[in-house]
Amino acid sequence: MTECRMCWERGKTWNGDDPRCAFPGGVFTPNNWNCATMGRLRAMAEENGHCDRDDNSCGSIGFVRMNDDYAPEDYDGLGGYVVMSWYKDRGKTGHAIVMDDHGTQELTLQHAEIALKGGGIV
Ligand SMILES: [Zn+2]
Repeated sequence: MTECRMCWERGKTWNGDDPRCAFPGGVFTPNNWNCATMGRLRAMAEENGHCDRDDNSCGSIGFVRMNDDYAPEDYDGLGGYVVMSWYKDRGKTGHAIVMDDHGTQELTLQHAEIALKGGGIV
């Protein structure tokens, strides 16, 4: 896999730099730009009012719920929150993890898709 389903479906719809998917191996990488899945998760966080922004120091943070009720049958993890951080409205999402009351873990494309499905997207 070299890009997520949403990047593949969207393709490149602008002039300029090519997109770089945040999930080239199925696990989030900070070497991304305009990944369609990350863009949708960030938009979801903003739509839900679950963001904060400080361009002078802290950057932006947002989260979306990842309810395991929306997970496929082969998912053996728990529910939690996808927590993301980025700067201004730029296409790069600098960091993203899954967090719950047990700790943090890497964000996978599967986590992202569960969160999108729970948000009524997919
Ligand atoms: Zn992508």
